[in-house]
Amino acid sequence: MSYFQREFVATSAAVRVRFGPGVRHEVAAELDRLGASRALVLSTPQQAETALEFAETLGSRAAGVFSRAAMHTPVAISEEAAAYAREIGADSMVAVGGGSTTGLGKAIAYRTDLPQIVIPTTYAGSEATPILGQTEDGKKTTLTDPKVQPEIVLYDAELVATLPVGMTVTSALNAIAHAAEALYARDRNPVSTALAIEGIRAFADALPRVRAAPQDIDARGETLYGAWLCGTVLGQVGMALHHKLCHTLGGSFDLPHAETHAIILPHAIAFNEAAVPELLAPVGAALGGGPAGAALHRFATAMGAPLALRDLGMEEADLDRAAEIATQNAYWNPAAIDRDGIRTLLDAAFHGRAPGSDTI
Ligand code: NAD
Repeated sequence: MSYFQREFVATSAAVRVRFGPGVRHEVAAELDRLGASRALVLSTPQQAETALEFAETLGSRAAGVFSRAAMHTPVAISEEAAAYAREIGADSMVAVGGGSTTGLGKAIAYRTDLPQIVIPTTYAGSEATPILGQTEDGKKTTLTDPKVQPEIVLYDAELVATLPVGMTVTSALNAIAHAAEALYARDRNPVSTALAIEGIRAFADALPRVRAAPQDIDARGETLYGAWLCGTVLGQVGMALHHKLCHTLGGSFDLPHAETHAIILPHAIAFNEAAVPELLAPVGAALGGGPAGAALHRFATAMGAPLALRDLGMEEADLDRAAEIATQNAYWNPAAIDRDGIRTLLDAAFHGRAPGSDTI
């Protein structure tokens, strides 16, 4: 099948990407490439020990460590971290972690324009995008600015091997969500489509192997490869219903990021599949056949992913308000969106039913 389109626009960022088990040990050489010698090392509190190890290895090239990255990038923490970067005279950043740590690095870059080396330890894909999501006063906003795009990414499968299996699965589905929505993006192009399909294929192949043997470095490497491809398309084309619903559930109901993506994905894709079945056919093909929404639900179930929003602590009484918020502002989506349709979708996701099972 050809992904050729008669007309398209494609934009890609100048990012240096290195893959390989142990490539994290090349950070000093990569700082030299940037002409940098005073890096601020970033992490979450949970990965502070890893950040300290990096700082120790970097010796005098590490100007300081800031280990307070938090989910959804709170503005107050970013401002504190940017002030700390200025105070210690940092000329670069080394961010080690998942989307939260990458988000902090981007938030500092937004305020200081310091160059970033990111060493991802989840599959969220933020390192491959010029997008920064931030929260302030309980409200999440998103901006796109080339200044926040990390300059160098080091994908080291040995680091991601410590990601617990449950988070591995939800983080992988979070990555697949970027690729699935890229397939019907209005501004898609033949290259973004090819990258998205290869990204989903990589996870379909390697995620079951990682589940069976979490320390399998080749399988971990292939999932990271999938994460890079899926993150790259997230940075290149616009997202729609799925990301909008997850943004609503995360922002207004404080549901955890990757788990929410994992639960909503089969439902949002089944909803849109009714409008663009041919564009989503590669998802079903990559995941063992059948319609895309059903194939995603089957894959998520087989991988042991959470399936019900109620298991994340959401209250059934909140579903009406969630449907309300998610349909308040108009945005482009391949299938027409109405409040009742979204309420039905959310109800199936709340109870963990298979997508479309209400109508069968
Ligand atoms: P995360 O970064 O919050 O990580 C979750 C937890 O797992 C943290 O405690 C972290 O320290 C820990 N962890 C990470 N890697 C680990 C490993 N290998 N071993 C052990 N523990 C590990 O979660 P995430 O899902 O990677 O990122 C979510 C955040 O990223 C959200 O805020 C989301 O909005 C953002 N995001 C942004 C973009 C973008 O383009 N701007 C894209 C995707 C996600």
